[in-house]
Amino acid sequence: MKYVSTRGKAPALTFGEAMMTGLARDGGLYLPETIPTFTAEEIAGLAGLPYEEVVLRVIRPFVAETFSDDELVPLIAAAYAGFAHEARAPLVQLAQNHFLLELFHGPTLAFKDFAMQLIGQLMQAALAKSGERITIVGATSGDTGSAAIEAFKGLPNVDVVILFPKGRVSEVQRRQMTTPAEPNVHAFALEGDFDDCQARVKDMFNDFAFRDDVRLAGVNSINWARVLAQVVYYFTAATALGAPHRPVSFTVPTGNFGDIFAGYIARRMGLPIEKLVVATNQNDILHRALSTGEYRPTGVVPSMSPSMDIQVSSNFERALFYAYDGEGSAVSQLMDEMKTGGFAISQGALAALQDTFASGRVSEEETAETIRQTLSATGELLCPHSAIGVAVAQHHLGPVPMITLATAHPAKFPDAVEAAGGVRCELPPHMADLFTRAERMTEVPNDLGALQTLVRERIAL
Ligand SMILES: *Cc1c(COP(=O)(O)O)cnc(C)c1O
Repeated sequence: MKYVSTRGKAPALTFGEAMMTGLARDGGLYLPETIPTFTAEEIAGLAGLPYEEVVLRVIRPFVAETFSDDELVPLIAAAYAGFAHEARAPLVQLAQNHFLLELFHGPTLAFKDFAMQLIGQLMQAALAKSGERITIVGATSGDTGSAAIEAFKGLPNVDVVILFPKGRVSEVQRRQMTTPAEPNVHAFALEGDFDDCQARVKDMFNDFAFRDDVRLAGVNSINWARVLAQVVYYFTAATALGAPHRPVSFTVPTGNFGDIFAGYIARRMGLPIEKLVVATNQNDILHRALSTGEYRPTGVVPSMSPSMDIQVSSNFERALFYAYDGEGSAVSQLMDEMKTGGFAISQGALAALQDTFASGRVSEEETAETIRQTLSATGELLCPHSAIGVAVAQHHLGPVPMITLATAHPAKFPDAVEAAGGVRCELPPHMADLFTRAERMTEVPNDLGALQTLVRERIAL
């Protein structure tokens, strides 16, 4: 299977190439040329299998050109061995016909671990075959950086460099990045905010001499391999509740549209998903776009769900590509209009999007209220992101079972959760010593030259 760009002007790549490249050279995002479909029997056959076996069956048709089954089995096993729950993605019931899919039992307590752990293993295996060594560089506001460090630490063919804004991530997030002792981990505290971190990472990728010299690679949320890894839990959750014999719906706390787009792929593969509901916080560009057709960023307002404080939702481009019937030139034109403030989605494309996606927006007050209410009604303590999902889902309950994705553990955001729910959440046992582990980080100025010198020094060690 080949992968093509949403903007139609980059060369088609294999899975392995698309994984290593991340962003296409025409500025677009990679998608499979065709989406494989499963029969109802094949979907029914997934029910009750170990999570790792479902991973194999779901990703196999997408990656077969790069990895054989024999190669995949041990890589998948290694990817999920560090999860603290045997089911990996357990379902709990919140109310009649409302279920919560807990995606926070991975090593850094957020759903990002599902994709990052697998991509770490797949990249390392591809590099071991070619004998190459790469430098992963990423910017983070918290969750992505800790998940990447956890996934790549100790891998022999990879250095991982993460830029985070000094003093602006939570203590749990910082310690998850600064306490791994492996020498291939480089946590940089940058003098600046998250946008500065992202800008410097972009600068490094745009300096082609540097990029080739240190063999830069990216693992941000537009990497197709990350989307693919997230498709799997839509299948395990839906089949646990009776798919393919009865349909289900999902509500997804959304920022960059990567997680919910994985649900869209599952639906195209034949999983009977009635609706995919986008849940946003007060940074509601996606809710506005899906209700009015106007996609216009307005500037980010910080919230208690920081991983969803996003105004330019990069993976939405993939949904637009399908809504415009795979016309790269149409997508390209919309993305050009972004430079002058946004764009209007055509009537036909909006109708196509609304056929699959519904949406809702939740204020800070409602988020806190949902944490309180859910705790008293069910005993389940939600993180602020998950609470946004639950609040929106409550407006979309009906005869079809609703599954809301819980994207992070409440202990990752203890202050916001305590303020809302009145309960202090402890870290799970496997992380209980996080606050006593030694930290190791490098403070760096917001300066490209200084950063590049430091990266070269570090990876030479
Ligand atoms: C990244 C993240 C999200 C948003 O996911 P997207 O794929 O960017 O839409 C939601 N909740 C948490 C806790 C996250 O870390």
